[in-house]
This record gives sequence, C-alpha cells and structure tokens, in this order.
Amino acid sequence: MRTFDYARPSTAGEASALVGSSGGTGCFIAGGTNLVDLMKNGVTAPELLVDVRDVTSQDVVSRSDGALTIGAATTNAALAAHPAVRRHHPVLAEAVLAGASGQIRNVATVGGNLLQRTRCGYFADITKPCNKREPGSGCPAVAGHHRDLAVIGTSDHCVASNPGDMAVALAALDATVHVRSATGPTRTLTLDELYRLPGDEPQHDVTLAAGDLITAVDVPPPPPGRMRYRKVRDRASYAFALVSVAAVLEVRDGLITGVRLAFGGIAPRPWRARRAESELLGRTPAAEVIDAAVRAEFAGARPLAGNAFKIDLAVSTAIGVLGDLARDTGGDNRNGEEER
Ligand SMILES: Cc1cc2nc3c(=O)[nH]c(=O)nc-3n(C[C@H](O)[C@H](O)[C@H](O)COP(=O)(O)OP(=O)(O)OC[C@H]3O[C@@H](n4cnc5c(N)ncnc54)[C@H](O)[C@@H]3O)c2cc1C
Ligand code: SF4
Repeated sequence: MRTFDYARPSTAGEASALVGSSGGTGCFIAGGTNLVDLMKNGVTAPELLVDVRDVTSQDVVSRSDGALTIGAATTNAALAAHPAVRRHHPVLAEAVLAGASGQIRNVATVGGNLLQRTRCGYFADITKPCNKREPGSGCPAVAGHHRDLAVIGTSDHCVASNPGDMAVALAALDATVHVRSATGPTRTLTLDELYRLPGDEPQHDVTLAAGDLITAVDVPPPPPGRMRYRKVRDRASYAFALVSVAAVLEVRDGLITGVRLAFGGIAPRPWRARRAESELLGRTPAAEVIDAAVRAEFAGARPLAGNAFKIDLAVSTAIGVLGDLARDTGGDNRNGEEER
C-alpha cells in the first residue's frame, strides 16, 4: 500500500499553493469518485492530497436574467436539483442526471467532474502501455478495443474520448471556467481553452498547470429557444456515452434562427459543432438538412474500424434531438423567460 499525506485547507490560496509547490507530487481531491479509483488501480500515485471541498463555494448563484455562477464544490446532485438550473438551463440538469448514479452524484463535484480522466480501458490497466498514462509507451487502443473512443480531434498518439456529460451541456451554453493559479492570479477560460486535444502530448487533458484550482463555472443567460440533452449508451443507466448531444434550438417561421450543438463521447473534449451550427442557421430543421450539416462537421473525422458507427449515431441522435426541439418550439421559443 502506498502512503500519502492529506491536507484540508480552508482557503483557495492555501490549497493552490500546496499543490503548486509540491513538485508534481500533489493534487487536489474533491469528491474522490474518479481520483480514488485511479489511485486504487495504480494509475496515479500522489504523495499529497489537498482536499478542496472547503475552499470553493458549494452553491449555485442565479441572477434574474437566468445567468448562473456555480461554485466548484457544488455537488452534481445539488446542481441538477437547483430550481434555476431546471427552469433556465434544463439541458444542464438533464446532462448531469444522465451521468453516474444518485450516490455518486451526491459526492461528485463540478470541479472534479470537469477534470475526470478518460475511461479508455488501457489507460486504467497499468499492465498495458498507454501514451496518456506513460508518455511514449504506445497506444494499444488503435489496433485493439476502441469502440467507445473518439472519432474526431484524435492524434496518432491517443484516440481517447472525454467521458463527461455535464461539460457537453456547458459547452453548448458557452460556459466559462474560473481558475486560480498557485501564485494567486486568476483567469477565465472557455471550455475550448480549458480542454486540449491530444496531439503528441496526450498526457495533458487540459491546459491547467500544477496548483491551478477551478473555483467556479459561469453560465450566461439562456439563449432563446428550447434546449435538450440526449445520451446514447449501452445500458439505460450507469454507463458512459457512446454519443451524446446537447442542443439549443430557436425556430421562427419554420427557419432556424439560433442553434447551439455540442457532442459528447466522440472526441477528446466536449465537441462544440460550430461548422454544423453555421450550416443549420437559416435552414429548415428537416432531417436531411441536419444530416448534411452534422456530416460536414465530421468531414475531418478519423474513425477507426470499431468506432466508425459513431458518426451515423451522432447524425441520427442530432436529427432526433433537433427535430424534437423544433416540434416543441410550437411558436414559443422561450427557455423559462416567462418565469424569470
Ligand atoms: C461508476 C461510475 C460511473 C460514472 N458515470 C459517469 C457518467 O455517466 N457521466 C459522467 O460525466 N461522469 C460519470 N462518472 C464520473 C463522475 O461523475 C466523476 O468521477 C466525478 O464527477 C468527479 O468528481 P469528484 O468531485 O469526485 O472528483 P475527484 O475524483 O475528487 O477529482 C477528479 C479530478 O479533478 C481534480 N479536481 C477536483 N476538483 C478540482 C478543482 N476544484 N480544481 C482543479 N482540479 C480539481 C482532481 O485533482 C482530480 O484530478 C462516473 C463515475 C463512476 C465511479
Ligand atoms: S487511446 Fe489514449 S488513453 Fe487509450 S490507450 Fe491510447 S493513449 Fe492510452
């Protein structure tokens, strides 16, 4: 058994400084639902765990325009149950509830959820090579089991997918993440700036440095339209997404006047489908239009033999979600505006 030190500071500054000055041997722990599993498997072996549940907010603050500030220590369960989230950002509540189990959501936090590691089986199995766990050792997933893994944004060094649900909805909502660095300065990142593609350094999932602490997530006021999250998985619950879709759609006079589309399960990070969005604007929400727009998004995809089906699955899931939203719209495009 490996021993480690444990600290539970009461300020964000202390927590950041402890991890930042640990020389790479320390890390934050929040709910521990991902980190402790990785420690048990020997995937990671920190010498210092810095508990951050007391150093950031556990609350969701909602403003009259529907904007949210979500403390990083908010549990997934509290986030999904929050009345303002359910009313103004239902896509976020649906995404969180589609993840894990009730027990895990009661403990897992927003900060930890954003930074959970890939579920690639080779990454979790320390008897196998894996460029993400041990840079330069190889990627057995390419010739091996990759059915669950990514089809776009990958590199020759890693084809792992990001497993999160919450982050997909946050990508569609244009959320930003507040980060406090080990020496004090703070910065705000979009999700595209937070997550990085594997390239030739797949060991780094995100652009954060040692001691960078996520303190909160900001969600802007809801865009006009209706929103929904749909997750396709092998079992009805307790399974990670093969493909998921977070969408916001506004239709006026039969034409798409606003659209946000993000995919999970298909890329190393939540994948905001900006090319598909631009192809959909001004068009009718017909199945063939959505089909062509999503296929255009995947023009640069590099699927493997065992996961090429994900492109058709992403297309059909998007057709289903956007078609449902277009029907739901029924002339009323508002996301809870009447109740603000
Ligand atoms: C059986 C099972 C099924 C699951 N199914 C799903 C699913 O379907 N969908 C889904 O999205 N998730 C799923 N999860 C993952 C689960 O949601 C995550 O484990 C959880 O959200 C992580 O949160 P945590 O607070 O426990 O993080 P921890 O395990 O404590 O930490 C995770 C990582 O985040 C870092 N970290 C934590 N807080 C901060 C912070 N504030 N700033 C910077 N770094 C921080 C830690 O250092 C660590 O690297 C599942 C987990 C399990 C065990
Ligand atoms: S896909 Fe990435 S995480 Fe999986 S074995 Fe290859 S390098 Fe490791």
